[in-house]
Amino acid sequence: MSKERILIVEDEEDILELVRYNLSREGYQVLCTTSGEEALKITKSESLNLIILDLMLPGIDGLEVAKILKNDSKTRDIPIIMLTAKGEEADIVTGLELGADDYITKPFSPRILIARIRAVLRRKKPIEPPDDTSVIQINELTIHPGRREVLIKGESVELTYTEFQVLYYLAKRPGWVFTRFQIVDAVRGDDYPVTDRSVDVQIVGLRKKLGSCGKYIETVRGVGYRFKETV
Ligand code: CA
Repeated sequence: MSKERILIVEDEEDILELVRYNLSREGYQVLCTTSGEEALKITKSESLNLIILDLMLPGIDGLEVAKILKNDSKTRDIPIIMLTAKGEEADIVTGLELGADDYITKPFSPRILIARIRAVLRRKKPIEPPDDTSVIQINELTIHPGRREVLIKGESVELTYTEFQVLYYLAKRPGWVFTRFQIVDAVRGDDYPVTDRSVDVQIVGLRKKLGSCGKYIETVRGVGYRFKETV
């Protein structure tokens, strides 16, 4: 069974070993390094399906590594899961905006790490998100992008243009965390200025209108918002 190849970049030996052990046990092919410089070399010579990238590294740090990889067409598509410490929210935001796919905060359970890895690898398979006409159905919530209609238990919910855009953008990729800036960037109309503060306002309005379904929109403290994958 040849499973995906994963590179772990982590300078703390015990965490590196913990991750390496658990990934190997899951059947992944695992490569390891403790430095950003070495990680960049490995990405040049090896074909990889995923990188687990610690942000705090001696020498070139994780964000710099992510930036270099995402700016290179040969490595741009390798998904990155960042390993972060508590209090690194600003770096998480930067990393997500650079193109990292997800992050996990230390200390973490191996079970959760494996789940995140599976989710990211699964998302990467069909590269394109669902097309703009497919209906999103999450429990009692239905979103008709074509008709720009939202239903809860079959009852129509009146949303503003921007509220709909924000909801649809998040719900199209359940489980993904988006920063405010990413949301602004995705929903900005030509004629409607949306700022990162106003994203918060839109979310408050959305949650109120969605009532019992408002809980699907999760605040990720210091980072942004996520549509819950399972509720
Ligand atoms: Ca570190």
